[in-house]
Amino acid sequence: MKQKILTIQEIYKKGAEKLKEAGVIEYQLDAWYLLEYVTGISKAMYYAEAERELSEEKRKQYDHYISKRCQRIPLQHITGEQEFMGLKFLVNEHVLIPRQDTEILVEETLKILKGGERILDMCTGSGCILLSLLKLTKADGVSGMGSDVSEEALKVAKENARKLCVNAEFVQGDLFENISLDQKFDVIVSNPPYIPTDVIDGLQDEVKLHDPYIALDGKKDGLHFYRRIINGSVHYIENRGWLMFEIGHDQGEAVKNLMEEAGYVNICVKKDLAALDRVVIGMYNEE
Ligand code: GLN
Repeated sequence: MKQKILTIQEIYKKGAEKLKEAGVIEYQLDAWYLLEYVTGISKAMYYAEAERELSEEKRKQYDHYISKRCQRIPLQHITGEQEFMGLKFLVNEHVLIPRQDTEILVEETLKILKGGERILDMCTGSGCILLSLLKLTKADGVSGMGSDVSEEALKVAKENARKLCVNAEFVQGDLFENISLDQKFDVIVSNPPYIPTDVIDGLQDEVKLHDPYIALDGKKDGLHFYRRIINGSVHYIENRGWLMFEIGHDQGEAVKNLMEEAGYVNICVKKDLAALDRVVIGMYNEE
């Protein structure tokens, strides 16, 4: 028997209902995004289009995406993209989905760029930090390199660079492993994995099951990569160069101390929009 043709409004409501039952927190918003993804109808256009009937093919597609989302697959893995700093980034299961909180790190770094700097983005993932910096800076002659341990992540970063028409170098390796010591950087920026291993289990399914585990796991106390990056950075950073980190809300003091011990000065901790510590920056001072 042929199925009754449903209107956009009916389909949206069913979709939202299914997501709610599956425990998706932002079920209404996600049902919207998927509807827009399938039909091209934006939220603004919805009320004028609500009674429009949707073809069976589109409805099946929408149902398929809704059932994926019910399995707690992140929206971004369904649509394959995430907006960050107003730019569109391709994402997949090999990269951390760019977070809005990370925009604070990019904004603070943009303030530092005056022209001619060379940037290193350590643990670049999708490349969202480095590529936003290079795309959005108003300073001239800024160049950059992204490093990541994952070849698969670097494929995504390179594709993002190509799509955004940004020139960037990428290197695979365990932190500084494959960056030659004759390379020096004016700015080293990083959003490393920083969640203590024991905490990961308590995160929501979308994160713990679908973001790459290696992009989350900061080992026992969450500070493993800060220690290693700070200790390594002193061999690669120009005197009076800047080290800029995203941090977890309770890591500000610890990361500040680690940076001080390694010779960084003028260290400050910046807050995010929720008034939580989010970014630590400091300047390297050789003597
Ligand atoms: N630099 C990337 C981001 O901020 C990836 C970070 C990570 O994998 N921990 O999204």
